[in-house]
Amino acid sequence: MGAYFKKVYDVARGLVTGLGVTLRHLFLPSITVQYPHEKLSLSDRFRGALAFHPEICISCEMCVRACPSACISLESKRNEETKKKDLSWYKIDFGKCNYCRLCEEVCPTKPKSVHHTKEYELSFTNRNDFVMDWRPDVAQPAGSDFGQIWARFMAQGQKAGINIKSNGSSTPSDPVAF
Ligand code: SF4
Ligand code: SF4
Repeated sequence: MGAYFKKVYDVARGLVTGLGVTLRHLFLPSITVQYPHEKLSLSDRFRGALAFHPEICISCEMCVRACPSACISLESKRNEETKKKDLSWYKIDFGKCNYCRLCEEVCPTKPKSVHHTKEYELSFTNRNDFVMDWRPDVAQPAGSDFGQIWARFMAQGQKAGINIKSNGSSTPSDPVAF
């Protein structure tokens, strides 16, 4: 009999404790974010999808060597007039990217030719869409229809208004504009 009442007491105690938590939160301000109509602000160093600027890239291939996932590839040819390498194409396979920022860190150009944006809503439904392809002489974004989504945040180099941040950062200002 004693065991029975002890069990009833334990259950009632657990119930009251749980309801106490509910009551406490009933009077706290709501923290629900009505996504996608409302969005939280992201930290400055948030690593979203990569953007690339073929106009700035010097084809040094440091990002290719630094990438641990082997998802960056490029081709360039030597320009005998300028004695520099001209970029032919540059690809990132987002299916392999782990958003580690190593490519951005090693990129020697100022502003960075490859850098993370704050884009976190990309989704892919086709394998071909994972591979983004940039060519200096082709209007961006190139590739599949899906590539058009990239128009939202793919800067077009200086023409698209890459600005150095006023705080002196060498990273181009985030071209994402929602
Ligand atoms: S963020 Fe990391 S994994 Fe992705 S392309 Fe750059 S170096 Fe490679
Ligand atoms: S993106 Fe940067 S690191 Fe990569 S090839 Fe171009 S200049 Fe070099």
